[in-house]
Amino acid sequence: MYNPKSLKAEEFISHDEIMDTLSFADEKKDDLDFVDSIIAKARLRKGLTHREASVLLACEDESRINEIYKLAEQIKKDFYGNRIVMFAPLYLSNYCVNGCLYCPYHLKNKHIARKKLTQEEIVKEVTALQDMGHKRLAIEAGEDPINNPIEYILECINTIYSIKHKNGAIRRVNVNIAATTVENYRKLKDAGIGTYILFQETYHKQSYERLHPTGPKHNYAYHTEAMDRAMEGGIDDVGLGVLFGLELYRYEFAGLLMHAEHLEAVHGVGPHTISVPRVKRADDIDPDEFDNGISDDIFAKICACIRVAVPYTGMIISTRESKAVREKVIRLGVSQISGASKTSVGGYCEPEPEEENSAQFDVSDNRTLDEVVRWLMEMGYIPSFCTACYREGRTGDRFMSLCKSGQIQNCCHPNALITLKEYLTDYASDKTREIGERLISDELQNIPNEKARMVCSDYIEKIEHGARDFRF
Ligand code: SAM
Repeated sequence: MYNPKSLKAEEFISHDEIMDTLSFADEKKDDLDFVDSIIAKARLRKGLTHREASVLLACEDESRINEIYKLAEQIKKDFYGNRIVMFAPLYLSNYCVNGCLYCPYHLKNKHIARKKLTQEEIVKEVTALQDMGHKRLAIEAGEDPINNPIEYILECINTIYSIKHKNGAIRRVNVNIAATTVENYRKLKDAGIGTYILFQETYHKQSYERLHPTGPKHNYAYHTEAMDRAMEGGIDDVGLGVLFGLELYRYEFAGLLMHAEHLEAVHGVGPHTISVPRVKRADDIDPDEFDNGISDDIFAKICACIRVAVPYTGMIISTRESKAVREKVIRLGVSQISGASKTSVGGYCEPEPEEENSAQFDVSDNRTLDEVVRWLMEMGYIPSFCTACYREGRTGDRFMSLCKSGQIQNCCHPNALITLKEYLTDYASDKTREIGERLISDELQNIPNEKARMVCSDYIEKIEHGARDFRF
């Protein structure tokens, strides 16, 4: 029985409810009055139910799709302005005991190079990341209780936060590790993590079990209920995602939104972010072996529908996507992107030798951070290295109330400009700096509150004179 308030995976992600939702969407997708009424509801910016959003995703009427795109763009502007938050993944270890069919880290893969960073290697990798200008990391690891126990992950987080190289600092560490216990989530919370990210991979239980034939990840309920345990352990910000390509995208989309509704119903706060990865080629992995790959157009439609369905939830795109695809979907609601990513264990400090491939997947965007930052600014976006909310304790529902109060423009906007100024001063090429300085002086005028504008200008001047780490 479907029950969003239940703590049982099969009740809050009910297969029958998803199947009914898909039939409902098929039945209603050509009823354009009904579609218009959903778009009108979305315009109120309070979100949509999984059923309503599924109708929009199924709708094939071109003019309605264009309206959804326009609305997604507008909602993005209203909630996130023109800011794009930057981050980089840091792979700690690719030792893994699971058998995930789509992932090169699976236990049976004997030709991938297995690596685990020592604390000394982490210092080198993080120093290299700081020297690029990164302030926010997402740490990644395979699941292996012997090689990557929680103590190892905690030690790595501690090391990462302790490294202060020149003006560099990692100010927020998000964590993408396998589902774990409430006790371990509490330890991660105490270590000062930002968001806990865990991709569901697929919400379809049967497919999930087939795709994860062996290892602890095989347990669908344990994996699907992980976010509830994370929240019980005190982590306010959790990040959802599915790996598009494994199952039918409309099924996954409905499941994703049901998961968001469940978190809201039980914990009073929805997911902080939603990631939209697609399966990529990797060592021992051919994405064509999965039947449900989606086109770039469908991918864009999914992003737009997520944006209008959960306006307060950030959306993340990684370097799995090419420059061209990123360009298209950033407009439609993406709020965070990675830049200059390496998916190998190590590789930031020195490129990994070809014969030692440890990468999780092939990246499609190989540009440097400087190039990505410049590209964003040339498109009119403000690359932001801000980590203020989490450091000011604005997590979970406190962050959501900031969003809902409309004060983001007086808070996130200046923080984006301050952190961009730090980036330009410490790391940018001359050309990027020149474009950025102009952008900052134009964008200062877009801070509505006069006092906030003056304080922001003052901080920017102080950064020029060597001070760092201001925030609103
Ligand atoms: N081991 C952890 C877990 O079980 O969730 C951490 C996950 S892994 C380091 C990060 C994510 O990469 C996975 O959740 C999966 O969605 C994604 N991934 C794995 N193989 C991939 C592939 N071939 N292409 C794209 N993404 C992939």
